[in-house]
Amino acid sequence: MLNIIRIEPAPARRRAFAAWAVAQEPKVRTCSATEFAVPADLYASMPEDILIGSTVDGHRYVSPELDAPFTEPALEPAREPAPAPVSDDDSSIPDDTSTEPASGGGSGGYACPHCPREFTTRRGRDTHTRAVHNEG
Ligand SMILES: [Zn+2]
Repeated sequence: MLNIIRIEPAPARRRAFAAWAVAQEPKVRTCSATEFAVPADLYASMPEDILIGSTVDGHRYVSPELDAPFTEPALEPAREPAPAPVSDDDSSIPDDTSTEPASGGGSGGYACPHCPREFTTRRGRDTHTRAVHNEG
């Protein structure tokens, strides 16, 4: 089963988006004059900056970072506000919002609320939730 997400990049990002698309293996193809057919698993890991302003499956893409209640300078694009501090956890937990790229396998911290899977990005988790559990 292959989930395809139709993405129409913002005009200003189209060139960067196309460059990203042809760099994938296999290439991401266009599915219309303006849209790219992006496999869901690729979508989960694609760079945020080429998605900003795009239309995803007919809906305007909302950046989790840009949509955050308090926006931080672009120096830390991956940072998200924590919903609440965990009080009874030991204080030596590493800061998992660091900019270090996930090397796969580790617990990314975005757990699916419906099944035991975990994801390294919120977008990955959301994509999974939408695809597997049919939430929109
Ligand atoms: Zn799930």
